[in-house]
Amino acid sequence: MSIPFATLPKVSLHCHLTGSVLPGTVLELARKHGVPAPDGRGAHDLYDIDSHEDLDEFLRVYDLVGRVMRDADDFRRTTYESLTTLGAEHGVLYREIFVSPPSHPGVAYRTILDGVRAGMREAKADTGIDSRIIMAINREDTPAAAFDLVEQVIAHRCDEVVGIGLDYAEIHGPPGLFHEAFARAGRAGLRRTAHSESGPPGNLAILLDVLGCTRVDHGYHVVDDPDMTARCLDAGIVFTCTPVSSDIGRYSGSGNGKHEKIAAMVEAGLRVTIDSDDPPMFGTDPTNDFRILHEALGYDTEQLLAFTRTAVDGCWLDESDKAALRSAVADRMSVGTG
Ligand SMILES: [Zn+2]
Repeated sequence: MSIPFATLPKVSLHCHLTGSVLPGTVLELARKHGVPAPDGRGAHDLYDIDSHEDLDEFLRVYDLVGRVMRDADDFRRTTYESLTTLGAEHGVLYREIFVSPPSHPGVAYRTILDGVRAGMREAKADTGIDSRIIMAINREDTPAAAFDLVEQVIAHRCDEVVGIGLDYAEIHGPPGLFHEAFARAGRAGLRRTAHSESGPPGNLAILLDVLGCTRVDHGYHVVDDPDMTARCLDAGIVFTCTPVSSDIGRYSGSGNGKHEKIAAMVEAGLRVTIDSDDPPMFGTDPTNDFRILHEALGYDTEQLLAFTRTAVDGCWLDESDKAALRSAVADRMSVGTG
């Protein structure tokens, strides 16, 4: 029986707003603001997927995209497109989207927040997809800048912002540097996650012990350390894995499409969810990431749905909203699988 990858219900815990802007939209926003298209490229070659093996080069393009997002309507539009074209149309029922204020220099936090919330409301009205926001710290900035961002989140507190994250290049910003920003967020009741992809493996202990993370974005090297695997099993840490983007970056395996690390994490019984990270930038989407894992690892419908159930359990909705999402997923499962 063929698996209906597109209609299987999905819950998205690892997708970046800036990384999900469609190429045509980037070019239109550049025109709107009278700035040249990034690198003078067109829609067909805006995202040079082969070059994303190099994280610094990937982040350079990512920042160029961030710079064409300037007013509230830009954030409304890009959020809407991420939640519909790259979300609801792929069976995504709920997304916690990473928003990175530092990748939009000169834009007020409030402008970003208002625009993103407007896009979330519109997407929900049109497709039913629900969503929340994780405000992401750029670890290549200073700890003081990270602390300031958390202060802004708290000053403009709203129900949509459920937590903070930490992204950009791990090698340039070890997680321990940001302990004060994370402690401040924890005291304010914000949930915490952080990217750990390129390592070193010891960073996982810092995420858990120092930053108070209950989720880890990527985290493939957990399976290199049996003690850490046991600890994460015990603590129920949720890992938001992104097969295609991490395969290109050679983090989740050897870049050979075999996804050995994800397979080992699933085999160990760790709580794994699947998402697309920066879908158009890596030439993927939520349907494709499910299909890729089926093709590489033979995961059947039941295993793919297990990723979705884990994402429901690991998401940061309150318990009543989580129960509603759980039943929405169950309803969709019976339709999706016939
Ligand atoms: Zn990511």
